Formats: sequence, C-alpha cells, structure tokens
Amino acid sequence: MALLQISEPGQSTAPHRHNLACGIDLGTTNSLVASVMSGATKLLKDTDGEVILPSIAHFSGEEVSIGKEALNFAIQDPSNTIFSIKRFMGISYDEAKAIKNLPYDLVNLDGSVGFKTAMGVLTPIEVSSRILNSLKNRAEKALGDELKGAVITVPAYFNDAQRQSTKDAAKLAGINVLRLLNEPTAAAIAYGLETKEEGIHAVYDLGGGTFDISILSFNRGVFEVMSTGGDSSLGGDDFDNLIFEDCVNKLALQNLSASQIQIIRQFAKSSKEQLSTKDVAEFEIDHKHYQITKSDFEAMTEDLVKRTLRITKRALRDAGIDTQDVKEVIMVGGSTRMSVIRERVGELFKKPVLCSINPDEVVAKGAAIQANVLAGNKSKDDVLLLDVLPLSLGLETMGGLVEKVIHRNTTIPITRAQEFTTYKDGQTGMGIHVYQGERELTKDCRSLGRFELKGIPPMVAGRARILVEFQVDADGLLSVSAKEETSGVKSEIVIKPSYGLSDQEMEKMLKDSVVFAQEDIQLRMLQEQRVDANRTIEAIDAALEADQSLLDKAMLDSILSARKDLSLIIDSTGADEIKEATQELERVSAKFVEMRMNQSIMSAMKGHRIDEFNDQL
Ligand code: AMP
Repeated sequence: MALLQISEPGQSTAPHRHNLACGIDLGTTNSLVASVMSGATKLLKDTDGEVILPSIAHFSGEEVSIGKEALNFAIQDPSNTIFSIKRFMGISYDEAKAIKNLPYDLVNLDGSVGFKTAMGVLTPIEVSSRILNSLKNRAEKALGDELKGAVITVPAYFNDAQRQSTKDAAKLAGINVLRLLNEPTAAAIAYGLETKEEGIHAVYDLGGGTFDISILSFNRGVFEVMSTGGDSSLGGDDFDNLIFEDCVNKLALQNLSASQIQIIRQFAKSSKEQLSTKDVAEFEIDHKHYQITKSDFEAMTEDLVKRTLRITKRALRDAGIDTQDVKEVIMVGGSTRMSVIRERVGELFKKPVLCSINPDEVVAKGAAIQANVLAGNKSKDDVLLLDVLPLSLGLETMGGLVEKVIHRNTTIPITRAQEFTTYKDGQTGMGIHVYQGERELTKDCRSLGRFELKGIPPMVAGRARILVEFQVDADGLLSVSAKEETSGVKSEIVIKPSYGLSDQEMEKMLKDSVVFAQEDIQLRMLQEQRVDANRTIEAIDAALEADQSLLDKAMLDSILSARKDLSLIIDSTGADEIKEATQELERVSAKFVEMRMNQSIMSAMKGHRIDEFNDQL
C-alpha cells in the first residue's frame, strides 16, 4: 500500500549522512530514550549501564539531581524532590490542587501551577525540561554527537495544553522536537503495523500505577485515536498489595515496623514477577514461610483483571466497534508481563496478543523509529505517519458566522489559505477571530484567539484581498497569518490554547454539530441574508449621500421606501423575506446605479480628452 509521505523543510539530507535522532518515552514514573543505530532500534544506557531514568528531580540550594540520584532524596528531602511531573503538565493550579498526597508545596502562578523548591518557584515545564535534558545528554554521549532532533511520546488523551507544555519543556531542554507522538501509536510503529494492512488495533497499557487502553484505526497511512479509556490508579502496585495482604493474613503478622512493611512489599512485588514464569513463589519473613501458587494469585487478582477488561470493553463501545473488529492487540507496560493478563486479554479479543517486544521499551522504540524517518535517514518510500485534526478550524465572518478553513479529520501537518475581503468602504483594519468546532455560529464554537490586521489601504468594500493562512504543524499546533495582498501588510499569531479541550468536551462539540446541523444551516442562511441586506443598505446610503442630485423625486421616493421596508424586517423575519426585500431595493436602485456609473465614465472620458488635447499642443 502506498503510504503518505511528507518532507519536513530543511530536513532532507545528503546521501550517506546519518542524522542523529532519538525517541523519548517521557513517563510518569520512568523515562527512556532509544535510537536507530545501523538499522537496529536500541535503548540508550547511562554511564552506569542503566536504561531506565526515574522521572524524578531533586532541587537543593545549588544543585539539581535527576533520576536515580534524585530518588535517594525522596525520603530525605521530600519537599524539594518532584516526581510524577507528567501529571502536572498543562493543568491549572486548581486541577493540581486536587492531586492527593503530594509531599511538595504548590504555588498559584496566575492560575497555573508552580512548585516551591530550594531553587525558587519552578513550573512543570522547567522541571520536565531537566529530565528531558538528562535524556538528551545521555543520547548525545551514547551516539557521539549532537542530536538533530527527537520524537517525544505523550498519552493519547493529552490535550493541546498538555502537548504544548511538553513541547515547551523539550525546547527549554535544547531539544529540537521533530514531533510529539501518541504513546499507543508509537507502540504500533514498534510492531511495524503501519507497514501492514489498514485496520483497527487496541493498545493495552498496564504499568505500575496506571492503566490505559487506546483504540487506534490505521487508515490511508494515518493512525487515528478512535477512543481512549483507563484508570489512573490501577496498576501493578495493586497486584502487589493483594499478595502483601494475603501474606500478612496467612502468617498472622502483627505490629509490623515501617521497614518490615517495606520488605514485605518488595517480596510481594518480586513474587508477582516470578509468577509470570513460575508456578510457585515463596519467601521468608520473621522466620515464617510464605508461599503462593500461580492459581492462588490468579484467583485473588481476578477482580483487578476484570476491571481492566471492563474499561477495555467501554473503550470499544465508545469507538463503536466490537472485539472481532480489532486486528492486533499490543501489550505495553511492565505489568503486561503477567501471564494472566496476556491470557485474559487474548480471550477477550479471541486472538493472541502482541508481546514479543519488551513492554517497557516498546513506546521508546516506536518513537525512535519515527524519529529516524523524520530526521531524514530513510528513503522517500518510507512511511511518515500523520495524525488528523480532531475539530475543524475557521474564523469569524460577518454576522457571527464561522467560516471553516480546515475541516476536521484533515491529515496534519497542513497549510490552507482562504481569501477574505473588507466589508465597508475605506476599511483599514480587520479583526481575525479564530474558532474551533463544527457548528455554524461563533457562539457554539470555541474561541482560540484573535488578532488584528491593521494598515489596510482605504479601498472600496470588497476590493481588498486578504489572504488568511492557517498552518497546523505535526503536533496539532496552529499559527494563523493574514496578509493584504495589494499592499503586503501582514499580521499573525501562534495559537497556544491555555487549557485544551477534554475528550468529553470534544465529543459534545461533535455530537452537537450533528444534532443541530439542520437548525444551524437555517441560521447560517438567515445570518448571511442579514449581512447581505445590511451591505446593500449601506451601499445605497453612501451612494445617496454622494449623488442624490442625480435622482428625481419619484425615483428617490421609491428607493427610500424600499430601503425602509427592508430595514424594518431585517432583524425580525426569515431569510426568504429578507432576500426578497433586498432584491426589491436592488431592483428599484438599478437605474440609479447605472446613472452613477455613466457619470463616472463621463468624467473619466473628459479627463482623457483634455490630456490628449494637451499632448497635441
Ligand atoms: P511500568 O510502569 O511500565 O514500568 O511497569 C512497572 C510494573 O511492571 C511494576 O508493577 C512491576 O512489578 C511490573 N512488572 C515488571 N516486570 C514484571 C514481570 N515479570 N511480571 C509481572 N509484573 C512485572
């Protein structure tokens, strides 16, 4: 199948030159970085040979430590040790306040959130950039030169603000972001699904503390997220807890010290991990022997597994599909190593799941493959995966209407331009108000931003040619520019929505566009008719002011009476009546328009003759 290809400006390369690029899985708990080297996708290690970088940063008075080093400070200096930074990206102070059990202090920075540390107040972008910078340094050390760029993965449910914050953090870390990529899409790329047939895939991601399910459709070279679901407090830790409780009950352990609790937790975790390959796991605590079989474990954790399956079924329902519509099921996250998970998920979809790639590394590997393509190391025939725009983008035109410039489901990146013109004679400025949504009226869409184009040379209404260009980059971020073509006057904005739309809001906007479609079309017609009528009245008024002397009384009266009839109904009746009255005003004014035209031709001719006369002298 031919797949879509885009060449990024300035990223084509001379033959044989390999551009260094990497893929970064920026996780809530752990982060990884991978790169394609001599055709193989490899995880990059730090100087201690570790692949995983704990996503944690410690800020002392003078020094910043990241990863394992910072982990040591989590107990010693908790208020200066920031973890789970991913959960704070692009959210407001109020939303951050709702996150429970944080050992550090949050600061309200004009509605957005900051952390109070020994190094002053830091934003989530600053903290995240430290982690990203550490990964960048690791990659450059491992690859031996400067990076050309990186692909960074984000959860499929991340909104605009969360994506923008991630991108800003990368920029601050000195990383050239080739693009942000949805985590489930990265996993699908790692399995090479984009080289196979079109179809629907499910990505089941069970980590230490969170569960995510994503339903992806792969169509004409594009991965689209059909639905997502999950539980941010369901993961491997819950399975450990059940073994912990079983051990405490069976061995009748009492008055446990903090360190004993810690030890049993550790034993519980490693027993769980052993049960992925063995039938029995056992350990000693306080000279007492604990043993658990695989079937005991499966029975005791059945409810947890069922919870993930229920959420999976809901995501399938939301996508409007059935289990048999799913072609491949990809396993992501350390907890999908549990054989019970692989089996039960396989049973649900009635097919074996894809789990041959290390589930901790699959996202970083997919990102690395994509980075390698985007950095220009592959031939033209290679796939470049694109995303689609979730909601239409447009701008406000007269009468509170939205003119869509790029429609939803268009593949991105995309640039589209449309010409607009002035409404009034002599108009020198134009407000450009950008909207997102499917409805016809601005009040039913979401305002993304506005700017003004000033300095348009005064012209007759409708003469100016204003080219408005919408540009959406590969990460879904929009820039809008407007240029008056005859004078070259230009103005532009980059839209960075402060808080993006949640999935539910987006769904509502889409549903409303269907429910209200008929009503919206009628309203649009009415608004357009009103704009047309107002324009006709204004043109007649301007003409009367300049050339009323050309008219006899009868003509003037009939124009004024038609004008009055129209202005009386303009705000009250339907589109058809307004149209009729507008046409009537145009009809009775037609002679007047003709007379004015003749008059201006006459005066132009007059000038011409005088010139000729002068030339002959
Ligand atoms: P992640 O958040 O993706 O790094 O996943 C971490 C979780 O995976 C922890 O709960 C680990 O106990 C779990 N895990 C790692 N290896 C195994 C294994 N072999 N069997 C079961 N769970 C595992």
